[in-house]
Amino acid sequence: MARPLTRRTFLAGTAAGIAVAQWQAAGALTRLGQPAVPGAPFTLGVASGDPTATSVVLWTRLAPDPLAGGGMPPADVAVSWEVATDAGFADVVRSGTAPAVAALGHSVHAEVGGLSPDTWYHYRFTAGGYESPVGRTRTTPPAGDCTTPLRFAFASCQSYPSGYYTAHANLADEGHDLVLFLGDYIYEGGQGTDVRTHNSPEVTDLVAYRNRYALYRGDLDLQASHAACPWGVIWDDHEVDNDYAGDVDQDDSPVAAFRQRRAAAYQAWYEHQPVRLAPPTGPDYRIYRDLAWGDLARFHLLDTRQYRADQACTTGALIDPPCDALDDPSRTMLGAEQEAWLTNGLRSSGATWNVVAQQVVFSALPLVGNYNMDQWDGYPLERDRIRDVMAGDDVANPVVITGDIHAAGIGRVLADWDLDGTAPQVATELVGTSITSRFSETFAQLAEAVISGIPWIEHVNVRQRGYVVCDVDRDSMVATYRVVDTTTSPTSAVSTDVAWEIPAGDPGAACTVAAPATTTTTAAPAATATPRFTG
Ligand code: FE
Ligand code: CA
Repeated sequence: MARPLTRRTFLAGTAAGIAVAQWQAAGALTRLGQPAVPGAPFTLGVASGDPTATSVVLWTRLAPDPLAGGGMPPADVAVSWEVATDAGFADVVRSGTAPAVAALGHSVHAEVGGLSPDTWYHYRFTAGGYESPVGRTRTTPPAGDCTTPLRFAFASCQSYPSGYYTAHANLADEGHDLVLFLGDYIYEGGQGTDVRTHNSPEVTDLVAYRNRYALYRGDLDLQASHAACPWGVIWDDHEVDNDYAGDVDQDDSPVAAFRQRRAAAYQAWYEHQPVRLAPPTGPDYRIYRDLAWGDLARFHLLDTRQYRADQACTTGALIDPPCDALDDPSRTMLGAEQEAWLTNGLRSSGATWNVVAQQVVFSALPLVGNYNMDQWDGYPLERDRIRDVMAGDDVANPVVITGDIHAAGIGRVLADWDLDGTAPQVATELVGTSITSRFSETFAQLAEAVISGIPWIEHVNVRQRGYVVCDVDRDSMVATYRVVDTTTSPTSAVSTDVAWEIPAGDPGAACTVAAPATTTTTAAPAATATPRFTG
């Protein structure tokens, strides 16, 4: 049964073997004297993500001709990276090389380890004699630490045609520790006419998705936002197709065809995000995962698109009255595996704060007898189970953060939504607005009137674009809703719409390590002062 394990068969079956083959291809090209990098390659900027206490993922993609497939020759290229404690790179603490993999759009994902906890760094890449812009990143506090405070921002929905990324320009200057992006990073649709224009008709294949990401990633405000701190990125529907559910797209295309499209979209997403994940190998790709800020906060990052049952009770508009299908226990938003993972993650986290970072509105949102069937209202039995887990004594301070809907909101997640708002509160839901994507102006007034009348909704604003900043410590989480004046001009002021304080009712079980007497932070970000609590 056992066969001799030659070097060839051993390497061929391993990731190392694939990497060796890639390096050999890159070396062969160099020997032939062809330019490995035919032009300035860092057109899409740099990024970092998924930090731990000792490690972070550094990202870039070589794309001298970004809107036309990237413009790289069809071979892998060795890219050098450096991590320093200072902006001038006098004190380089880690360096190495990572492949820009041709089969992955010459994207680079370098997992850098051996870093110090709770420390800011600067990083850059070089390839083919070109040097990248410099990014800033940081590690998290170590496990057990729940006294080092955290300032994170969350954002979603950045339709490029809808406007300029004035929100990102401001977000980048505010000195956040971490940004969570909750999806709709790109929009897949065609050109249309608005503030800006898309670069192609609706995208459905890998080359077109790549070029669409390159359009978005070419935006200098978005690049600045990525370069300012590490991100944790998850997707929503528009990274693939509007309102898709599992294997079903919005036009009910044949499943095989849609799965092919999904594979292309998922690969292009991976190629453009600083995620600590292996690349996808087809249409099935697990991205749900968690991030920890010591034991002060645990982020449970969900995927509410890939595994969900098709939307129920719909007549096409997705705003419909309930029907019997909602009582079908087999219908799911997360899929059984992810639901079990979330349940276990919440119960075992021990963190002071448990942030469920996800896409669609969790709280019940009755709209005059109708519900948005794309939201958790369309999956009520599973929602009840997750709410009951969050209500458990073993889960400290659950907070749900949400994107998707292009409207800001604050809601109380209740133990029972049928009691007119009198049931005990289980969690708080913070719904961000959008970076640029619009809420229908036709329905703005009606939506605000109806939603603000729901007893468990504390705030709603469908009219302004922006992001949410959360200041977290052992005692409270303060969510500050930042709104820009405009997205129709390249620059804009930003202001605070509302600040909402959530007191911590429970310290969490894992709070064991006191803050160090001397801080290990070596390079604090050059953050501009942000006016706080003004609205
Ligand atoms: Fe959106
Ligand atoms: Ca969406």
